[in-house]
Order: sequence, then structure tokens, then C-alpha cells
Amino acid sequence: MISVYAYHMVKFNPSPKVLKNRRDAKLKKIAEIGPLVTGSLVKIQRKCGNMNCRCAKGEGHPAHILTMVAKGKTKSVYVPVDLVEEVREWVQNHRSLKTLVRDVSNLSLAIIRCHVAAGRGGARKKDPKPRT
Ligand SMILES: [Zn+2]
Repeated sequence: MISVYAYHMVKFNPSPKVLKNRRDAKLKKIAEIGPLVTGSLVKIQRKCGNMNCRCAKGEGHPAHILTMVAKGKTKSVYVPVDLVEEVREWVQNHRSLKTLVRDVSNLSLAIIRCHVAAGRGGARKKDPKPRT
């Protein structure tokens, strides 16, 4: 995963300038994120209610719902077929945003650590033994 690699680089190459540049790049991506929605898009089989329809006996009609957990309760909303592809993109945008927020937070943490290390008399030298 890219983020793990980035964290690795951050951990062993703690230049505040590089870290801030990386964070700025992530913040720019956050600003560019399009519409989003919380939840997951799920494909379901629906019965239309018409007793003469084939779905009354066999499989239902394929449909999509968006499900989300709010205050511990699962909610779902029917997504009209002509909106499905758009909603799929909104869901993906929300996931991308969550990843970016986590990355920005990790970079901010690294900047704090870097600052602390510099305050102790320059960047830490390579130390094969981690502090315990
Ligand atoms: Zn039907």
C-alpha cells in the first residue's frame, strides 16, 4: 500500500520541509474531491409486488440501496437506477477523503515528532535499537 510506504519514508527521512510539501499535496487533493456520501452501495433483489410478475415466484428485480450506520443504527435508502453510477463515485470519493485525512494526520504527527527531535539537538541519528 502506498500509505504504508509513505509512512515508512516519513519515519526514516524526517525533513520538515519534505513532510510539509507532502502534506500540502494531500491537502490539495482533499480540496479537489468531488461530491461524496457516507455509506456503501449494495445490490439487492426486490419484489415489485405485482403477483403476475415473474419476481413473485422467482428472483426479485435487481436494485441498489445505499446503507449507512448513523448513531449505531443502520439506515438504507433506495438508489434509482439512473443514479447508481454517480452514487458509486460519491461513495468512492468519501473513501478517498478518509484515506487522505488519515495521511494528513500521519504527516502532521511526523512533523510534530520531527520538531521534537530537532529540539533535542538536531535530527536523531540512525538508531537501530528502538526506544522502549
Ligand atoms: Zn416484479
